[in-house]
Amino acid sequence: MELKRKLAILADAAKYDASCASSGSRRPALPQGIGSTEGMGICHSYTPDGRCVSLLKILLTNVCIYDCQYCVNRLSSDVERASFSPKEVVALTLDFYRRNYIEGLFLSSGVLKSPDYTMEQLVAVARSLREEHRFGGYIHLKAAPGVSPELLDVAGRYADRLSVNVELPTQRDLAALAPEKTMPSIEAAMAEIHTRIVETRDDPSPRRPAFAPAGHSTQMIVGATPTSDQEILATASRLYTAHGLRRVYYSAFSPIPHADARLPADSPPLAREHRLYEADWLIRFYGFSAGELLSAASPNLDLTMDPKLAWALAHREFFPVDVNTAPREALLRVPGLGVRTVKRVLAMRRHRAVRMADLARLRVPVARAAPFLVTADEHR
Ligand code: SF4
Repeated sequence: MELKRKLAILADAAKYDASCASSGSRRPALPQGIGSTEGMGICHSYTPDGRCVSLLKILLTNVCIYDCQYCVNRLSSDVERASFSPKEVVALTLDFYRRNYIEGLFLSSGVLKSPDYTMEQLVAVARSLREEHRFGGYIHLKAAPGVSPELLDVAGRYADRLSVNVELPTQRDLAALAPEKTMPSIEAAMAEIHTRIVETRDDPSPRRPAFAPAGHSTQMIVGATPTSDQEILATASRLYTAHGLRRVYYSAFSPIPHADARLPADSPPLAREHRLYEADWLIRFYGFSAGELLSAASPNLDLTMDPKLAWALAHREFFPVDVNTAPREALLRVPGLGVRTVKRVLAMRRHRAVRMADLARLRVPVARAAPFLVTADEHR
């Protein structure tokens, strides 16, 4: 098969993976090497549906021995199959890099023979790029659950970021639609990566080898099963806490040809993906817990308003918050006040009383925030 045809098939097959954002890595240019994530760095360029486009994003192969029902590349799918050799991926990456098309490589794969065999092929690509071609650009490698710790260790030494996709939010969902995968095997791989990252970070030796300096991430498909946002966010919270993930990417389920009858005929509304990202942000940076945002009585996010406003309207007893006396944690719960604004308010009030006009100068959307707060000149 022609290389161009393979590229068309394997780039198209990779588009379903959303977990390819590339921030957080600082890999300087090597003497006589090619590529760097510093200087101009990685361009954070995304398609309208949120996919990163600054990387060469491909599968090594779309042949797969697993039969995950939500996946177009599953064993029982009749899609056209193609495979690159590791050498072909290396050549493509270097060629695209020299033409200034890309800043790095996002390489995933169907499972060939076994998770370890597949990982060996991906590692061969990364090793060749780093050692033979002194490639200093960004590399993100995907690992399949069940891969050995030894291979993860080698992969992390070449890659800027590693990811193991959780794919579905619960063990119940995996058992139904991806029986070859289990939550314990997925989390075991995540735990291994996290352990190596922490060991490397805490190693005081100046010669310590880098290990996945941009951390690790995962992708969760939303809407392939009836699982609620409450369970999705509970799983995401657990993964952040237990395995130190840099990001959980939420990807709306895309209908696939000849799909299993248990799968929905349509994608969930894109607003659901958007609201999950907002809730995820609140959990990571605003001190909310998944349990506060949703409950058994109300297990799905309101698609008509952002989750912070929804929480505020459901907890009117918490407001108004006095911007001149409230602790940071309380200020972060006021709709319209972001992390940076709260920092500025805290700095300002050390010197003088904060008034509504001050908030306007800080570009706070006053009409949105005012019903929930008290300033020196506005009392409710
Ligand atoms: S292991 Fe990956 S490529 Fe294979 S069927 Fe499952 S999701 Fe698709």
